[in-house]
Amino acid sequence: MATHNTSLPKARRKDIPPDNAHVVLVVEDEADMRHLLQYNLTREGLAVHCAATGEEALEQTQANEFDLILLDLMLPKIDGLEVCRHLRQNPKTVDVPIIMLTAKGEEADIITGLELGADDYVTKPFRMRELLARIRRQLRRRNNNGSSAEKESSSLLHRGALVIDLQRYEARCHKQPMPLSATEFRLLVMLATRPGRVFTRRQIIDTLHGGMAAVTDRSVDVQVVALRRKMGDQADLIETVRGIGYRFRDQDND
Ligand code: CA
Repeated sequence: MATHNTSLPKARRKDIPPDNAHVVLVVEDEADMRHLLQYNLTREGLAVHCAATGEEALEQTQANEFDLILLDLMLPKIDGLEVCRHLRQNPKTVDVPIIMLTAKGEEADIITGLELGADDYVTKPFRMRELLARIRRQLRRRNNNGSSAEKESSSLLHRGALVIDLQRYEARCHKQPMPLSATEFRLLVMLATRPGRVFTRRQIIDTLHGGMAAVTDRSVDVQVVALRRKMGDQADLIETVRGIGYRFRDQDND
């Protein structure tokens, strides 16, 4: 019996994660940033491990189970993209949510990271509140994965004034049927099933057209314009992420 535990106040102290806390790996070579992240994530009730290099990150992910990995892209030697590639090739870490930490002007790296299978990214300097919201979203998704409640409700997506019926392949806006082409419907479904998730143009082409080389990035933009037009006053649910791609607005985080 751990009798000394009974003397702790009932309210959980914010700097001690509970035993069932989600476990997060912070990969960041800059010590100040690493400590700042460790401090803030621990305060959120997360159990935090840290790695200062890509090598260390790969070792830690082999030795431990993580619920989420926060991955700085600019690391010495094995950089973040290479770490991401390894994590996604390894069955043990293929499904672990990865949020990339990036710097301004790294759009090409962000696109590569997303296409390698990273789930999200945050550009430095970032607001801690925003990062924590994104972490919570990824952890929520991970919790919901495979749960029956999620699957049952998943044939009908409610987004703003839109209702998307995945079984009947039709969508309504303010209860009025939307005259969508098959491609527009699939584009809408792709974005709306993962609110907040940024999709690159290449990922959209791969999903909609099976990666046909003849389909250009520009044609994705044209399809988004057409889809938005049919969404009327709900058009801004699809956001343009400059230099990267598109995402469906995450109303949870607004
Ligand atoms: Ca760095």
